[in-house]
Amino acid sequence: MQRIKFSLVVVLLPHLSLAQLSTRSSWIDLKDSDRTAAFAFAEDYKAFMAVAKTELTTVKEIVALAEKNGFEPLAENSAWRPGAKYYDVNRDRTICLIVAGKNKMRDGVRLIGSHIDSPRLDLKARPLYEREQHALFQTIYHGGIKKYQWVNVPLALMGRIDKTDGTTTWVNVGNKPGEPVFIIPDLAPHVDRELRSRSASDAIRGEELDPIVGSIPDDFGSVQEQVMRYLQTTYKMTRADFVSAELQLVPATPPVDVGFDRGLVGAFGQDDRLCSYVAARASFAVADPSFTTISFLVDNEESGSNNNTGANSDYLRGLMGRLLHLEMNGQGSEYHLRQIMPKTLVLSADVGHGVNPIFPIDEMTNTARLGYGVIIKRYGRGNDPNSEFIARFRRILEDAKIPWQTYTYKVDAGGGGTIGNFLSRENMEVLDCGVPLLSMHSTFDLCSKIDLWWLYRAFEAFYRQ
Ligand code: MN
Ligand code: MN
Repeated sequence: MQRIKFSLVVVLLPHLSLAQLSTRSSWIDLKDSDRTAAFAFAEDYKAFMAVAKTELTTVKEIVALAEKNGFEPLAENSAWRPGAKYYDVNRDRTICLIVAGKNKMRDGVRLIGSHIDSPRLDLKARPLYEREQHALFQTIYHGGIKKYQWVNVPLALMGRIDKTDGTTTWVNVGNKPGEPVFIIPDLAPHVDRELRSRSASDAIRGEELDPIVGSIPDDFGSVQEQVMRYLQTTYKMTRADFVSAELQLVPATPPVDVGFDRGLVGAFGQDDRLCSYVAARASFAVADPSFTTISFLVDNEESGSNNNTGANSDYLRGLMGRLLHLEMNGQGSEYHLRQIMPKTLVLSADVGHGVNPIFPIDEMTNTARLGYGVIIKRYGRGNDPNSEFIARFRRILEDAKIPWQTYTYKVDAGGGGTIGNFLSRENMEVLDCGVPLLSMHSTFDLCSKIDLWWLYRAFEAFYRQ
């Protein structure tokens, strides 16, 4: 009798497990504990986003949080034992958080990859010039932007200046109350009739994205020399030092709640520091995982994942080799490294598009909505994860009762990339996931607090398997 009962349970279980493919907002019938946790999580997220506005400040901030959570820098002689927590920084612009698993790395790794760069304006190598008694910076934009969105927006200047004496000076102006900001001025509607005949995509051109950085001339009438003197005094820099500087203009606006109900977070750079922060938090939460977990937070996705700090570099593979070296006491080989890759499961995490109530332009049966949970991205055309891996990920979400949805681009209407391709090239199993945003790639993106929470729960469950 006992035996029959047992087998009945086994047979019935698959039918009892509720499919969580969302058909309505996950705010409805939400448990109080999830609601409270989601709002609390969003507070931490906003505090992070207020500081982590560039890849450089993101890495610094993640290092600080990692150390608070017991992570140590990975060294040549680090001890490899289950539960050991390390972080590794690649050139100040990419960071990995590693938690050693109970199983061997050759049994596979659980990796979440996301990017920490966002669309923004970079300064050119010789940025400072003067026109009509205003000092301005020449800029070149990073990532896909709608240029008209960047005018009249208070901008902060952030980054580093590296000098020939080997020193680095850090720059961060415009984020604190009371500090000056920089503005790309638009024309008044009274005078711009000529410009209004431009097409929308051309309303503001790339070479017009130059912010005002000064307006008071010196005794000889030069505004730019006055600005240069200020920079010399403040940052001990010369004009030539701009050549070896990485200076970015980012929106100065701090993250805030949006709506009477505070259901949304508005912030610059949620693509993709949202997933990056959430992946880091999941790494901090995971203790003694079965499989080694790695949060891979990487630079330059918005510009094609190039350079040695982007996903299209050998860094991650090199890191896996270094970890293997520690695990196998120096006995690891290329052969062992090749054993890791096919068994490794990767979530390529990136934010996506959510239905915009003013412009509901999507193919509505296959689109994503704010508040409906984690997105499983199905791009088609050879970019989809293998179906058996999708099934496995669905099982993780469903077991943890995490609402999820899917997204596929409207055919021939748009498209975008992620770091997924670079990870699947290593023969790892890769699935693209994320949460939906509104106003994506603008100076101020919106996410739903409840999606943020579900993504965290999903990452945690993925690492906990
Ligand atoms: Mn992205
Ligand atoms: Mn993007």
